[in-house]
Amino acid sequence: MARERIAVIGAGLMGHGIAQVFAVAGHDVAVHDAQAGALDGLRSRIAANLDNLDLPRGPEERVTGFADVAECVADAAIVIEAAPEKLALKQAIFADLVRYAPRHAILASNTSVIPITDIAGDLDTADRILGTHWWNPPFLVPLVEVVGTARTAPQNIEAMVALLTSVGKTPVHVRKDVAGFVGNRLQHALWREAIAIVAEGIADARTVDTVVKASFGRRLAVLGPIENADFVGTDLTLDIHTVVLQHLNRAAEPSPYLRALVEDGRLGMKSGEGFRTWTDEEADTLRKDVYRYLKNFRLP
Ligand code: NAD
Repeated sequence: MARERIAVIGAGLMGHGIAQVFAVAGHDVAVHDAQAGALDGLRSRIAANLDNLDLPRGPEERVTGFADVAECVADAAIVIEAAPEKLALKQAIFADLVRYAPRHAILASNTSVIPITDIAGDLDTADRILGTHWWNPPFLVPLVEVVGTARTAPQNIEAMVALLTSVGKTPVHVRKDVAGFVGNRLQHALWREAIAIVAEGIADARTVDTVVKASFGRRLAVLGPIENADFVGTDLTLDIHTVVLQHLNRAAEPSPYLRALVEDGRLGMKSGEGFRTWTDEEADTLRKDVYRYLKNFRLP
């Protein structure tokens, strides 16, 4: 694949990592952030990631920060937006992208859960607007969900899938533009039940995590839920669902338990307490464990 010029909007956790993936694959990457400070450490953050991954330095030199969005996207073939998860903000950014990026550029949002149709709104040239939902850290988690709207041109989906494949990602095409796409629907169905189990006193927070990590969590990377249903048999799956589904949490709103934590300022590791209490050392150890696990992960 030709070395396309990539632009990334937002130099935060996801944006800098997405820029890194393309730079490592040899693309020039332009990055815009609304906060000038976010661009200052961009190359050094990527260089530090490369060191941690035992990859050679150099790709960070292909990443350039731009304070001006129009300048950033002026020559882009691909633009990936990774700004905060606020619909109005993303709509405003896409209005700028439609205006300033070349007509042929594909414009993608890294939204976690917002339907791409809502972000595209009534913008012109919506045939080139789609979703690319990456996972954190983007340079270690392979999946990218590629999501088109009813107006996205199929050739733009195909081009994005080809580009992502060429830089070593595992793209999948999500056929309907639904909130949460596939990955976050599955992930948050699990989180809703996990929080309900804690809130109802069935098990404490640490126990819930132990149950997942020491059981089906171990298998998930090689045995997906649908494979597992076939593995144990659709008949056993039906018997289990007949008993248990009626008892699972079906709330359409966030848990009151979760709301109370947030209202109390118990925001998790960043405030030292969430569902559990966290010392800085414990939080740091867990972050390092996750990174090391993902870095060393090998399929059998
Ligand atoms: P972040 O807060 O780390 O980074 C967002 C960056 O966008 C910040 O540097 C901010 O200054 C910048 N920004 C704010 N307004 C802007 C604007 N108008 N134009 C350009 N830049 C602007 O956030 P993040 O975790 O990188 O998340 C970015 C997006 O990716 C969100 O939509 C999020 O839901 C999604 N996402 C996050 C994760 C994750 O694990 N953090 C995973 C997948 C997808």
